Amino acid sequence: MKRRFGISLPEELVEKIDNLSRHLGISRSELIQDILMEAIEDRLHLLTHHTCRGILVVVSQRSDGERVSEVLEKYGECLITRTHHHAGKSCVDIGLVEGDSDTILRMENELRRLKGVGEKYLPFWCVR
Ligand SMILES: [Zn+2]
Repeated sequence: MKRRFGISLPEELVEKIDNLSRHLGISRSELIQDILMEAIEDRLHLLTHHTCRGILVVVSQRSDGERVSEVLEKYGECLITRTHHHAGKSCVDIGLVEGDSDTILRMENELRRLKGVGEKYLPFWCVR
């Protein structure tokens, strides 16, 4: 059973969704459902407090490197290893993360709030 409900999205985002769904040959609804499922799966582990291990990838412009480093150093207790790479005009930080799930969530939220910074955390081992 499917349920319908209305949501409001910025025009630019709707255009991107429509372009991508046409390119992939699936409906707008199918694409949004796939994207939502992936985003929810990535965050389901956060529903309960636990010790979490995963991989963190942060992509930023070189000019934003210092702001990213400040956040990563603030949460250094969770970063087992961290490597920093340059790819064109971008910086890529890759970290092996282990720590309290609430602390990792706070780190992710701080990174997401940095304008122009892309962040992805992939949990691979959750201990409850
Ligand atoms: Zn987890």
